[in-house]
Amino acid sequence: MKTIAIIGGGVTGVTTAYALAKRGFAVTLLERHRYAAMETSYANGGQLSASNAEVWNHRATIAKALQWMLKRDAPLLVHLHPTWHKLSWFSEFIGAMQHYHDNTIALARMAVAAREHLFQWADEEGIQFDLKRQGILHIHHDRAEFEHAVAVSKLLARAGVPRRAVTPEEMRAIEPSLQGQYYAGHYTDSDSSGDIHKFTTGLAQAAQRLGAQLRFNQHVVQLNPISNGVRLTVLHDDSATTSDYDAVVVCAGAASRELAAQVGENVNVYPVKGYSVTLHLDDAASQAAAPNVSLVDDTVKLVCSRLGDKRLRVAGTAEFNGFNRDIRADRIAPLTNWVQQNFPEVSTRNLTPWAGLRPMMPDLVPRVGAGKVSGVYYNTGHGHLGWTLAAATAEMVAGAIAASRDSVLQRTATPLKLA
Ligand SMILES: Cc1cc2nc3c(=O)[nH]c(=O)nc-3n(C[C@H](O)[C@H](O)[C@H](O)COP(=O)(O)OP(=O)(O)OC[C@H]3O[C@@H](n4cnc5c(N)ncnc54)[C@H](O)[C@@H]3O)c2cc1C
Repeated sequence: MKTIAIIGGGVTGVTTAYALAKRGFAVTLLERHRYAAMETSYANGGQLSASNAEVWNHRATIAKALQWMLKRDAPLLVHLHPTWHKLSWFSEFIGAMQHYHDNTIALARMAVAAREHLFQWADEEGIQFDLKRQGILHIHHDRAEFEHAVAVSKLLARAGVPRRAVTPEEMRAIEPSLQGQYYAGHYTDSDSSGDIHKFTTGLAQAAQRLGAQLRFNQHVVQLNPISNGVRLTVLHDDSATTSDYDAVVVCAGAASRELAAQVGENVNVYPVKGYSVTLHLDDAASQAAAPNVSLVDDTVKLVCSRLGDKRLRVAGTAEFNGFNRDIRADRIAPLTNWVQQNFPEVSTRNLTPWAGLRPMMPDLVPRVGAGKVSGVYYNTGHGHLGWTLAAATAEMVAGAIAASRDSVLQRTATPLKLA
């Protein structure tokens, strides 16, 4: 197995291309946009957060969701219009509640593994991406929330992620710009934050230097298994071409479900919409008043990351409304209001709003490795943690493909024993 196509040029596709190119494969990455990282890997919350690895399949999430159901500015919004996709996803989500503990530990372990690869690649390839290794601070506003977090910390500890409880005074010592009243917090000093778009585009160039072909404006419309691999039909400038590869890796984010369905597989990714605002810290007062430590406000499910001196990214909300990508003013407003309440000296005059679709599996665990159909692999469904996990899952899928190549080589190199 030598030639590998990758569908999708977000963080999962580009990290996969890089990991495979490093192993000597002839890699072709096909992306429908003009550049890498233009969809969900464009302007996310920025957190490389093992401490946020808790999966959402918990009764506390469902209780909160029911409370928020009818509030237009609630962090979670489920559009009631029923679709088979939504119903099947929610039923699998409920079914996965029994795996809450195991899945949280598994994701936290993956996040720890991912850090090492990501930092090493950035170092080796000279990628600047506004990395801040100052930890992540979780903010709790009441006792119930804090106690839930204490239980989560025990799971994280089992995955090798130490997260310590901190008092409001300690929180202010960790991040002096914090102004509000808080019940308590949790701090993970091994976590970090950075710009996913800058990293992904930097790594795409590194993959090219290793020989990977990156083809943009290429929309894969058909995936067909053939006897010795996979045939892809690609639309480019309104004309369709087909090419054959030994294997394909589906890294198509929210579009992965549709591609998997073409080969008869159920990869039940739902597009869970989230929003971000990037505040441009144009004046010295805003720069001084904005936090440097990356934050998670557990009550409203917002995250915030400082990107260099001059940008502050605030992200959050989860909306179940299919492939709708509209940027709604009433969903952006809570993000800006949060900044006004918590960091009143930070100007919100100059901001860039954005919406993206989290490719989320019902159990929140990404689908990584070989599919049922020979030659078709997946590295997708990373949900709220794609930036945190991508480097580890890319290594996993590249390792699986390399192992398959090596076993074929071994079989063909073994001389036949005649009876
Ligand atoms: C508001 C928000 C905040 C977030 N914050 C964080 C965070 O703080 N930390 C964290 O770890 N994660 C965070 N995430 C999640 C993270 O951003 C995603 O998990 C990650 O970006 C998904 O990457 P991906 O490569 O799977 O998908 P994408 O980045 O969407 O890439 C998929 C690519 O595939 C291409 N594609 C699809 N179909 C085809 C086709 N048929 N042919 C060719 N190309 C195709 C698309 O154009 C796209 O470029 C956040 C997400 C959101 C929405």
